[in-house]
Amino acid sequence: MLIIRDVTKIYRTQKQKEVKALDQINYEFDEQGFYAILGKSGSGKSTLLNLIAGLDKPTSGEIILNGKSFSDFKRKDLDAYRNSCVGFIFQEFNLFDNLDVYKNVALALELQGRKAKVEEIEKVLDRVGISDLIHRNINELSGGQKQRVAIARALIKNPKIIIADEPTGALDQETTNEIFDLLKGLSKEYLVIVVTHNEEYANQYAEHILHLSDGKQKEQVELTNKPLEAGMELEYKKSLSIFSSLKMGFSNLKISIVRLVLCILLTTMAFSSLGFCLTVSNFSMRDIVVNSVVCNEYEDPFVIVKDDDCVDEAFITRLNDRLGLNFKGVYNFSLDYYIPQNQKNKLLFSSNCLSLAKPYGILETNEAYLKKLNFTITGTFPQSDDEILITEYYYNTFARYGFENEEIQLNADEVTKEKIIGQTIQQDSYNDQSAKLKITGIVDTGFNMDKYRHLYDYDPNGMQYAHDFNLVQQIKYSSYHSLVFVKEGTLQSNSSLVYSNKDGYDFIIDNMPHDKKRIEEVYDYLDEVSSNENQYHLCFGLTSSQQKDLEAKLLNYQYFSGIAGAIFSIFSICLMFTLLNFTVERKKREMGVLRALGAKSRNIFFIFSSEGIYLCIFSLILSYIVSSIFVIVFNNSIKHSEGLLATIYHFEFIQFLIVFIIAIITTCVSIFIPVLKVTKKSPAEAIRMEIK
Ligand code: ADP
Ligand code: MG
Repeated sequence: MLIIRDVTKIYRTQKQKEVKALDQINYEFDEQGFYAILGKSGSGKSTLLNLIAGLDKPTSGEIILNGKSFSDFKRKDLDAYRNSCVGFIFQEFNLFDNLDVYKNVALALELQGRKAKVEEIEKVLDRVGISDLIHRNINELSGGQKQRVAIARALIKNPKIIIADEPTGALDQETTNEIFDLLKGLSKEYLVIVVTHNEEYANQYAEHILHLSDGKQKEQVELTNKPLEAGMELEYKKSLSIFSSLKMGFSNLKISIVRLVLCILLTTMAFSSLGFCLTVSNFSMRDIVVNSVVCNEYEDPFVIVKDDDCVDEAFITRLNDRLGLNFKGVYNFSLDYYIPQNQKNKLLFSSNCLSLAKPYGILETNEAYLKKLNFTITGTFPQSDDEILITEYYYNTFARYGFENEEIQLNADEVTKEKIIGQTIQQDSYNDQSAKLKITGIVDTGFNMDKYRHLYDYDPNGMQYAHDFNLVQQIKYSSYHSLVFVKEGTLQSNSSLVYSNKDGYDFIIDNMPHDKKRIEEVYDYLDEVSSNENQYHLCFGLTSSQQKDLEAKLLNYQYFSGIAGAIFSIFSICLMFTLLNFTVERKKREMGVLRALGAKSRNIFFIFSSEGIYLCIFSLILSYIVSSIFVIVFNNSIKHSEGLLATIYHFEFIQFLIVFIIAIITTCVSIFIPVLKVTKKSPAEAIRMEIK
């Protein structure tokens, strides 16, 4: 049924030399029987066997299966031939060490797209005499046992031809006898072709011997050309399912955990650095300001200032009209110190920066406005032009350090609201027109002192310093808590309260809308009306020049991380490419073996690419986590050093998407190229490829 006609095989070595491995071979095989191919090493036995098994193609001549030449076979015919007709047994067994006996045998069935049944596998193992080893690992077997597993793997496919290349080359004599007995038994049912260099065994077991010497056959064989017997049709079986391929790829991962972990670590580092750089090269001043203002620690109103200039009434009107807000103008204002002399230094130079030594601004308003803000008044609202309302925050300074004016002196423990209300205080004495004012009440502006109590005794050199310091600056200078309130018209008639020649307010203030969008609207409006000379800023604890410094710094980071990002992406691409390429290169032999067992190119492709895909996915998941951590740490360090409230950088979906796309494309390319190269080669060549 199998005819070899005039077959010649010439190998071309890498140095372009020609090696004639087979020279005009003619032979004929029947449906059953024990055939031996006998010859010294290098005589061309394996070459002939590979041709018969469809693992390689002859240079000239024909191999004819039931009247049809292999040269007329399409790729899928040859796949089907290997898959269903041939059971191949190697000298080195070529079992898969990461699978146990059961799975090694089952694999041959799966390659035919069939599900392995336990009874079926037990039966074959029983036939080769090792049914008790079914769940052993391959490396727990002796050479003879391994070869029996390999024979079982060939038999389970129920092939027509069993082909064995020096199956006992690695075995001792006793085991060799057993294996030959086994093969002899099988030759009653199957066509068994065995390559050997042992003449004794060939003579003892084989019914037919083909003698090879230097690629030539010794005896002349007349081809009978007898009529074809029908019977051996190619069976086109289904192949390994994608799921099984992926599963195999997964079990391949387990082989070298150390290398795998190393790969994942390296690629993770590369990808997460890339993710980090992408994140740092992407920041928005608008987000920083808006987020800082919204930041939950920031329950205070928001304040707008203009660079080195005053904000005029017209601007406030336009802003309020446009955005439906209720901004009011505030003038700078300063009082004398009204705490006892011996406490003053404590307040001014101690590490405590929370207490308000003096109010900061003066706001002309009415009782209804304060009510609307839910501020409650102890005492009364000012009725005349020389009366003021102080805040509970300012009052707390007295409660902590004591109070002193020309009339009375109170220690901290003597201070009560009743005693403070009615006291007279005076504008900063540096101001020549300083006016005397009477405190009519204390307004609770809702400042949550308890929340900041830790700041009373914190360490100015500690990590929290900048952050908390900023928080305090914010509380002190950009809120209602540090103002004094006077009735409407006061500033007009008591003009000494305001520094002369002012044509606008020092800053403007409104209650904080608890809606990010509103704050963004304000930011955008300010951006719109700002010109180079006149910039409006939303205060968020940084002065306008600090804001500019920050922006310059961030632009710097952006520049460097852009460069670093480019380097990292090239690095991660190269790394991934090399690692995966290396992985696949090492597996060439395995791929060849699988092909010889009947795997199609497609199966090979899935099995070996899945490995890379897993690697890629693991690294991506890890990179996501590591990048996020990098970003959090970097954010925190900037937050602390700059005293920011809000987070600057956000590792978002888009950055991850870029990393993801780069990783996937690199993975695909670096796997597909070598796998494609291998699947294009003949299986025989692939098997011969040793691990370099
Ligand atoms: P055997 O199996 O009888 O030991 P082979 O069939 O493996 O012999 O090899 C026959 C001859 O072909 C040897 O001289 C060997 O060096 C040569 N040969 C085998 N494979 C290749 C190859 N891929 N490239 C070049 N020469 C080869
Ligand atoms: Mg050989």
